Amino acid sequence: MTEKTIIDVQGVNFSYEGNKVLEEITFSIEKGEYLGIIGPNGGGKTTLFRIILGLLEPDSGRVLIHGKPVREFSEKFLIGYVPQRTTPSEIYFPATVEEVVKSGRTPRKGLFRRFSREDVQAVERAMETSGIAAQRGRLIGSLSGGERQRVFIARALAGEPEILILDEPEAGIDLTAQEKFYTFIEHLNNDLGITVLLISHDIDVVAHQVKTILCLNRRLVCHGPPKKFITEEYMQKLYGKQVRFIIHGH
Ligand code: ADP
Repeated sequence: MTEKTIIDVQGVNFSYEGNKVLEEITFSIEKGEYLGIIGPNGGGKTTLFRIILGLLEPDSGRVLIHGKPVREFSEKFLIGYVPQRTTPSEIYFPATVEEVVKSGRTPRKGLFRRFSREDVQAVERAMETSGIAAQRGRLIGSLSGGERQRVFIARALAGEPEILILDEPEAGIDLTAQEKFYTFIEHLNNDLGITVLLISHDIDVVAHQVKTILCLNRRLVCHGPPKKFITEEYMQKLYGKQVRFIIHGH
């Protein structure tokens, strides 16, 4: 652990009703990292995120955020979470873009305090940064998948997070929108200094975008620069012998 360490995962084990899903997971994340988490379906990626967020308690081991156990860490708003595919009820709820983004400010401002000028400015900045300010009055149900994705990221940004956690953000958006989307995430990481954790199914994207990868299949299979680990040998270790290994331009 160094001074720059934000998240420290130490020897985490977790099972659902006796079924072991994570085994001896140890790694840390430093400020400014762009980390991609890959691995087969059921490999434990979402479970690991839920433990990092303090939503699940490990059987043994622990997670420290800025050196404090996650349950005791009170500044939860510093972690912005964009869950996998938003549920239909959230999409068709009759709320405007601005209302959804504003709701992301609540954890930082508190439920009962009124919006201050600073809160309003943070919401405005989040919409501007995400390129959705012009759509503020539209109902979220009327947006495209790519636009909606930006609204949910803007909602996370409204809390001015230090870390942004994205669970399979490319799901449900077309290729052109995906390219723009990853340029946007790169901007958040490079220019705004936000630490990004990204779960992805798309090894090709991960290979080209992130600075560090973490391969998870119950155990930690690899952790380090994509160039070193996105190789046939490691991908077979991670996904099994049947995997077809095609990384474009790699
Ligand atoms: P991934 O995100 O890598 O696809 P998950 O963390 O969602 O993996 O799931 C890991 C394993 O835990 C899977 O076998 C899944 O079926 C199981 N699992 C996930 N959530 C639950 C739950 N709430 N109760 C029981 N088993 C679960």
